[in-house]
Amino acid sequence: MTTTAAARAERLTRARKAQAERGVDALLLGPSADLAYLTGYRPPALERLTMLVLPTHGDARLVVPALEAPLARDHLGELDVEVAAWPETDDPVRLVGDALAAAGAARGRLGVGDQLWSGFLLRLQGALGAASFLPASAVTRQLRMRKDPEEVQALARVAAAIDQVVEGLAGLRWAGRTERDLYRDIEQAIRDTHDEFGFAVVASGPNAASPHHTATGRVIQPGDPVVVDIGGRLDGYCSDTTRTLVVDEPPPGFRELYALLHAAQLAGCAAVRPGVTAAAVDAACRDPITAAGHDELFLHRTGHGIGLDEHEEPYIVAGNDEPLEPGMAFSIEPGIYPRGHYGARIEDIVVCTDDGGRRLNTTSRDLRIVS
Ligand code: ZN
Ligand code: ZN
Ligand code: ZN
Repeated sequence: MTTTAAARAERLTRARKAQAERGVDALLLGPSADLAYLTGYRPPALERLTMLVLPTHGDARLVVPALEAPLARDHLGELDVEVAAWPETDDPVRLVGDALAAAGAARGRLGVGDQLWSGFLLRLQGALGAASFLPASAVTRQLRMRKDPEEVQALARVAAAIDQVVEGLAGLRWAGRTERDLYRDIEQAIRDTHDEFGFAVVASGPNAASPHHTATGRVIQPGDPVVVDIGGRLDGYCSDTTRTLVVDEPPPGFRELYALLHAAQLAGCAAVRPGVTAAAVDAACRDPITAAGHDELFLHRTGHGIGLDEHEEPYIVAGNDEPLEPGMAFSIEPGIYPRGHYGARIEDIVVCTDDGGRRLNTTSRDLRIVS
């Protein structure tokens, strides 16, 4: 990650302030986007415990396996976090308890990372009988949901990288090749433009009616619509975009369906501005599809937040009354899926700004004809 040490120090300060406001005595964060956001360090989730102990009042400590400590120190840099390295035969849960005790928080309310493995949480609960536990997202969601300008730039860079992959789709051969062949080509293109490959949905013909289809040995035919939903990671931040292609000529009725989907996606993007709720954006995107009598074919929510995680807050879904604020970044991705026939989806990442939604993916949303 390229976040400066000063920006990360500022995030630790904001986290502690939010902890104080919510009566949380310490955060306990394992390998996760929360940990990466606050420290710039994103270790893999392993059976050996790595955990940031961030007391509201007192010293921050990173409990880390001894063999990971050099890498952890590199990532932390100047950040005011003490490294407590544990040798193979030591008990890391005891070190977490020590760090909490040193800050007077061992009997307090502890915010545990939402993605911490339950095995670790059960051990912590066993060792810290007097403490109470709540999800760390009670503190971190408010921090991470609003992206600062540096994060918006990172999201724009990774969106440009995935857009480059989208522009390359027309140059691939589609007819007569399997979904898996295309998956491999696209995976390579994502690796060439990102730090990490994320995922690639290549769903052709009737398979396109399944939103998260896994590429199979199905041979792509002339006349097939193909949904391509792809993403990766660059400087820690995620990309995610979907375009729908047709090999040669679209099947009967498909152009009309696609025009409806396109209009819905535009309506969703146009609804984005500060103060509008996530639910209202979902409704704006869904209404044209409902009005055309196809509401039951739009199987999922309109979108999800994106940042250090592929899916994060805010979720663009009915019932989410969170008002949008400048800096919130999320997908607008309506889809129409007539089962047994075909499917279509259009997805862009949009950032809420003072002037409305700014689309980070800038490739054409028109139906793409390939061969
Ligand atoms: Zn998805
Ligand atoms: Zn997607
Ligand atoms: Zn998405």
